[in-house]
Amino acid sequence: MDIKSCTQALRKQSACSGIVQSSLGIGVAASFSVRGWDIMDQISLVVSSARAAYNQGKTRSLEFRVQQLKALERMITERKEEFSLALKKDLHKNAFAVEVFEMAGILNEITLAINKLPEWTAPEYVSKSMMTLMDTVYIHQEPLGVVLIIGAWNYPLALTIQPLVGAIAAGNAVVLKPSEVSWNTAQLLAELLPQYLDKDLYPVINGAVEETTELLKQQFDHIFFTGSTSIGRIVMEAAAKHLTPVTLELGGKSPCYVDTDCDLDVACRRIAWGRFSNCGQTCIAPDYILCDKSIQDAVVKKISTYLSEFYGADPQKSPDYGRIVNQRHFKRLMSLLEGADVAYGGQSDEENLYIAPTIVRDTDPDSKIMQEEIFGPLLPIVTVGSADEAISFINKRDKPLAFYVFSHSKKLIKRMIAETSSGGVTVNDCMIHYTVDTLPFGGVGKSGTGAYHGKCTFETFSHRRACVVRSLGFEKMNNVRYAPATDSKQKMTLWVMNKRGGCTVM
Ligand code: NAD
Repeated sequence: MDIKSCTQALRKQSACSGIVQSSLGIGVAASFSVRGWDIMDQISLVVSSARAAYNQGKTRSLEFRVQQLKALERMITERKEEFSLALKKDLHKNAFAVEVFEMAGILNEITLAINKLPEWTAPEYVSKSMMTLMDTVYIHQEPLGVVLIIGAWNYPLALTIQPLVGAIAAGNAVVLKPSEVSWNTAQLLAELLPQYLDKDLYPVINGAVEETTELLKQQFDHIFFTGSTSIGRIVMEAAAKHLTPVTLELGGKSPCYVDTDCDLDVACRRIAWGRFSNCGQTCIAPDYILCDKSIQDAVVKKISTYLSEFYGADPQKSPDYGRIVNQRHFKRLMSLLEGADVAYGGQSDEENLYIAPTIVRDTDPDSKIMQEEIFGPLLPIVTVGSADEAISFINKRDKPLAFYVFSHSKKLIKRMIAETSSGGVTVNDCMIHYTVDTLPFGGVGKSGTGAYHGKCTFETFSHRRACVVRSLGFEKMNNVRYAPATDSKQKMTLWVMNKRGGCTVM
């Protein structure tokens, strides 16, 4: 189907269904079926329309990509108030949280992509063998095609739009699926994106499990998923049917080792910030503390002191303290506290989706709170007898998304990094590695596959195409490779193949 008939079909269908207008004149709302058009037809039309638009070749031009990125930047800045309101409704985020944690990263990535696009897309000339000395040998970055981005709800703007920046920069068409859990932000994205970006190339599909399941049946050229490890498995399975490559930005239990030889005061302040920002709903938040029993009381005391300083005596009244995203997660989190030795916090208010910042002491490694990623404002402390024990504790579990170590000892820090594995590490602070756009951000093992941020996002959504450009001249030099084979031809061919020119002659 060509782009025109796709768009006409979608508009016609959208008009009769009365659903929200968004990209391509259609916003696929939650589960519904209209006049013989079921959700499957609609989703497949949206995707084929994006492909038809991609095949027109518009995204090949760097000017076009820059124009789209600038439009995206305008959307974020001009519609800041609307996004703030949606994020407040979804997660009780205040202006600071919106600008710093949701928008700043997107705007920085857009600026970086616009400035670096000529460099990133330039041919990368590589060293050559004797055999190709006269040729032009280079890597050409080409777009993958039509990609799917599935976002998560905890930073619903940043985690959906940041990968989009790199996907646009790399020249792809993108089908965007924000998380239905942060519904206000998802709806706003479906409403605003088509007003700023090319409607055909960047459609938004809103929906829940049914819609995502249908979406995953479509053929994409890459799937970028942010979410839980269990759903990551479903995504990878669906992608395998089409041999579609995936980036899985997943979660896990990120450990935080606090050494006895460290500035406990600073460590606890930073941990309190890392764990309880966004009400603990951060994929790279320290999930649990490992420390020697001798410092456990001091850790509890100091973190509690800083929590009072950050959020006051009653965090429920603090404009800086978030809320649990929904009832399901509220109940899940409260059940993790069953049988726990609560050293601080523990209060909750279901109607208000409020759970106080809570510290659990002397946590049994086999208890419920240690079996799954917490993803909420609970911080268990597990005591260990030594750094060795901490290392072995971490290594017995799935590879986490992040790892934190607080220590004065350079030797210990080196050992901790060398003898454990995680997606990323920040030493003597929490989450900072996420903010460095020259570092790849992603998981390892069960915490994810692939990475993004900065140039890495561009690379994730590009194919490194190997190119050799030869002339039709110098044909005599090729005689050695043609039959009939002789000993001297063989020797000569192997000699030429084995020698590295080591130069980058074009
Ligand atoms: P989730 O896995 O429940 O949902 C993510 C997306 O998957 C949503 O868009 C949802 O519509 C879709 N989905 C849900 N169930 C599905 C199903 N059965 N089939 C197909 N699609 C389905 O994750 P979440 O609750 O949105 O986010 C929490 C998790 O995400 C945590 O584990 C957290 O650590 C992780 N996370 C990771 C990162 C990262 O950058 N690595 C960032 C944020 C969150």
